[in-house]
Amino acid sequence: MPADLHVHTSASDGSFSPTEVVRQALALGLQAIAITDHDTVAGVEEARQAAAGSSLELVPGVELSCEDKERDIHILGYYPRFEAAFLARLDELACARRERIARIVTKLKALGIDIDFADVEAQTGTGTLGRPHVAAALVAAGLAGSVQDAFARFLTRGAPAYVPQPKFHPAEAVGFILQCGGVPVLAHPGLIGDDTVISKLVAAGLAGIEVYHPDHDRAAQSRYLAVARGHGLVVTGGSDFHGGGHHAPLGEVTVSNDAVQALRLLCKSKKGPSNIK
Ligand code: AMP
Ligand code: ZN
Ligand code: FE
Ligand code: FE
Repeated sequence: MPADLHVHTSASDGSFSPTEVVRQALALGLQAIAITDHDTVAGVEEARQAAAGSSLELVPGVELSCEDKERDIHILGYYPRFEAAFLARLDELACARRERIARIVTKLKALGIDIDFADVEAQTGTGTLGRPHVAAALVAAGLAGSVQDAFARFLTRGAPAYVPQPKFHPAEAVGFILQCGGVPVLAHPGLIGDDTVISKLVAAGLAGIEVYHPDHDRAAQSRYLAVARGHGLVVTGGSDFHGGGHHAPLGEVTVSNDAVQALRLLCKSKKGPSNIK
């Protein structure tokens, strides 16, 4: 009865629409998936409708991009209430992302790399813009060999077209998710490179930790399982599915449905997915 609790759609930088992701999840026989797009919940309602009346449980979520001391930290939020303050803050994040991408395009032009903002926008639907869309536009224009190549040459931190983005501090993101009735969970701690952040986030109210992730080997899984037990955190996991070649397939990493029940028990929006307007 597996649940994949980390899934992206075309509402952020995933390749597939929420409807298509739900179709694939059903075909795989998954019992639950969480839609966790970067800084947006724009894909949740479509996914919920696609899953309605089926065997698939749809968990509403978000993955907030945060930064602490130049480290990228991602905070997952499950079952947030979709209230005005929550949606307004996400809108602000989406606007900040657009401004950042515009500045990246300007930097690329200064480097003699001729792409336009519209070329980047053409790589996404209605969702939030991100560096992966710039990378895809560069590949489409023949200006980079691959998404990885585009990141390495232009977009990654320290590369010539990198632009920092004002982001949530992770402890602030944890507080924000709690305020909105959701359950804050630390995404892929193995990618942070500094486990000392965990206890600080626990002090801020962190409720769970993503123990199972494609980038966690067995040693990392054991380490974070012990951390979860030590702090009494919910153990979650997921594929971080984006579609496309260099990411894991949907359902590659799953947890039992007990994790979904644990998240449900902790959230303040007891109506769960049906609270979505
Ligand atoms: P952004 O939110 O715009 O800063 O973009 C972050 C996203 O870019 C991450 O979630 C990854 O999916 C992707 N990404 C970051 N670094 C790389 C890289 N070196 N190669 C490919 N994709 C990357
Ligand atoms: Zn992504
Ligand atoms: Fe992430
Ligand atoms: Fe993710």
